[in-house]
Parts: sequence; structure tokens; C-alpha cells
Amino acid sequence: NAISEPTIFESLESEVRSYCRDWPTVFSTAQGSWIRDENGNEYLDFFAGAGALNYGHNNPVLKQALVDYIVSDGITHGLDMSTVAKREFLETFKQRILDPRGLDYKVQFPGPTGSNTVEAALKLARKVTGRESIINFTNAFHGMTLGALSVTGNSMKRAGAGIPLVHATPMPFDNYFDGTMEDFHWFERLLDDSGSGLNHPAAVIVETVQGEGGVNVARAEWLRALADLCSRREILLIVDDVQMGCGRTGPFFSFEIAGITPDIVTLSKSISGYGMPMALTLMKPELDIWGPGEHNGTFRGFNPGFVTSKAALDHYWSDDALHLSTMAKGEKVHESFAGLAAAFDGVSTRGRGLVQGLVFEKADLASKVCQHSFEAGLLTETSGPSDEVVKLLPPLTITDDELDHGLRIIADATAKVCG
Ligand code: PMP
Repeated sequence: NAISEPTIFESLESEVRSYCRDWPTVFSTAQGSWIRDENGNEYLDFFAGAGALNYGHNNPVLKQALVDYIVSDGITHGLDMSTVAKREFLETFKQRILDPRGLDYKVQFPGPTGSNTVEAALKLARKVTGRESIINFTNAFHGMTLGALSVTGNSMKRAGAGIPLVHATPMPFDNYFDGTMEDFHWFERLLDDSGSGLNHPAAVIVETVQGEGGVNVARAEWLRALADLCSRREILLIVDDVQMGCGRTGPFFSFEIAGITPDIVTLSKSISGYGMPMALTLMKPELDIWGPGEHNGTFRGFNPGFVTSKAALDHYWSDDALHLSTMAKGEKVHESFAGLAAAFDGVSTRGRGLVQGLVFEKADLASKVCQHSFEAGLLTETSGPSDEVVKLLPPLTITDDELDHGLRIIADATAKVCG
């Protein structure tokens, strides 16, 4: 793979944004697990639109549904009016996803992005409870708008925004203290103690696996204890499934592993399935106290997104084949990473399903592995507070051969930087 001149790339990037992912090339087309640049180089994509492409690039089933819809002059704009595409999506979502899991949620379209659904969830929790403060977790990531940023546990990301808009108190995520504060007794004590300064919160917002925070995996029993605490204390539980939902960890909803039913669920990224902007806020029916026009916006019912989303649900979620293959592929990645952890000092691994992290004690090594991987034709990204984790988010539809190919590149890159 020849890499185009970084200087040309940087000047192009700097005109549109000041943020670059260290992939010094200009991409043009993509299919399945592969993305191509304008010079004809091909890269295997273990980044998959930051988790927005669980079914791969230009998935043929979804593409056909989209093409048919456009050719038939289906409505394309995004205002939240009733349309056939919307109705069919909602019916399919209920039939394929909610009903089989015994879940009863009202569905809101809060706007196009993950941050939009987090904002809606926080606003709703505050309106329903009449309380203001939110509990979030160390290393959480919930988005870059002011409300979502307030519950994001990363001081660097918050620093530019000044005072948090939402009063949020961070609690330690599972295993933050290496297993020493596993239950929530200390938290309940703070809630009961009028001298602690902790207000009765409206909600707790949690990711079951923290993606941006470094692939930190909450155990099922920890999630159950959290859900139990919330229900006893009448605190609403929001599970942010923007990145881990839509099958990334195996089941459609990442919280299914714990057998819990959150009060509010946020979904985005892979819900349209085609990399197109779409977000949902799911709420228990009794929580739907929005007044007309209280949370609206122009681009919150994107009809082409409904069409591709319905096609994805019909094709991939009518049985458990995708769930099972995701678990099997996750195991394959885990075995490969566990081998690297055994072979090299200061390397470890963690993950669930097809979100897997290779963790480096020396933070800059993770970036070097990503850089070597790019040069060998593989896209990966880092995550974690010091970018110390190589995070893998391949399409769930990746083949075993493609997965093996990418894992070999990462193994070679790790040997290069650690050897
Ligand atoms: N919540 C989680 C868990 C996320 O991972 C992200 C995006 N990385 C967001 C919210 C924000 O989504 P968006 O970037 O689409 O606003």
C-alpha cells in the first residue's frame, strides 16, 4: 500500500476540521469489510464507522432496499411525520426486537445522532422525576453536546466546554478499583447521608461496555446490582447502547446478558445499518410524558434510514445466527489477543462479542500498533483515557478469513513494537 503524502492530506483535512485519525489518505469506495482509497489501495476495516457499520459497508441487502425506495420516489426528508417507511420500521422493530424479548418500550426519534438520543434521555429523566442530577461513571462516553458531555467521564473532552450543563457525579465503573469496591453499599450510604452533599439523582447513565473509555466491560452481576439499586431508590436507569447495541456484544441489546430492563435505552450508530444518521430513544411507556413539541427537530425521522434499518432487522434478526457468529468471532479475536498478552510483557486484553481491546501498559504502543497496521492495510483505532487500547470493532458480517488476515496484521505489528 502506497500512502499519499501526509502534507497533501493534512492541508485537505485542515480546511474542513482540525481532527485527523492518522489515516493519511483519501477514501473513496467501500464494500463489506473493505474500504478503498482514491489511489486504489484496499484496507480491511476493523473500525467500521466507529461501530456504525455492524453489517459492513454497502451491505447488498440493505443497498437493494435503499435503491428500491429511492427509485420508487419514497420520501427522503427527515421531519417526524407519519410515513409508510416509518410505520414499517416501527412494526418490524416491535416484531423482531421488542416482542421476542418481552420488552415494552415507546420509541422516540430524538434527532440523527447518538448525542441527540442521550440528550433526550437526560431531559426525559429530569422531567419525569422532577430531579436534576445524574450519576455517570468513570471513563464513560456519551457524546459531545453540552448535556451528553456533562455525563462523559473524561476531563480532557470536557475541558473545552467550561462548566458542565448537567449536574453529574461520577461513580467508579465496574473494576475501576481492581475489584475492591464491587458492591454499591458505599453509594447507598452517600445517598442516605444528608451531609454527603449527594442529591437524590434523577437517573444513572451507563454503558455495559465502555467503548471510547477503553473497552471496559461491566460484569452481568454488577449491572444487576446497579439495576436493583436504581429500582429500590426510584432512580431511572439509562443504558446507553449507542455503540454496544445492535449486536456488537452478541445480543441485539448489550444489557440482555444481565437480564435487566432499563427504564430508558439509547440507540444510534448501527441502527440504520447503512452508516446513515439515525437514533432512537426507547422509554418505558409510563415515562412518556413529553408534551407536543417538547423535544422536536427537523432531522429526526430519516426515512431512508427506516428503510435500511427494517431491511437489516428482517435479514439479520429473524433468528439468532448473527448473535451466535458474533460470539464465535469474538472468541477468535480473544484467543489471538490472549496469545499476544501471554507473549509480551505489559499487554493484556478485554472485551465482549466483537468489541475487543488489546491493552498496552505503555500507552504510545497502541498508537504505534495502529500505525503499523494501517501501513499493512488494516484500519484500527485506539481508545481509553491515554489511547492505550487498540479497539477492534469489525463489521459483524466479517468472514473468518478476513478476521484471521486482520489479526495476523495486528500480531505482526505488536511483535514489531513490543519485540
Ligand atoms: N454514546 C456512546 C456510548 C457513544 O459511543 C457515542 C459515540 N461514540 C455517543 C453516545 C455519541 O454519539 P454521536 O457521536 O453519534 O453523537
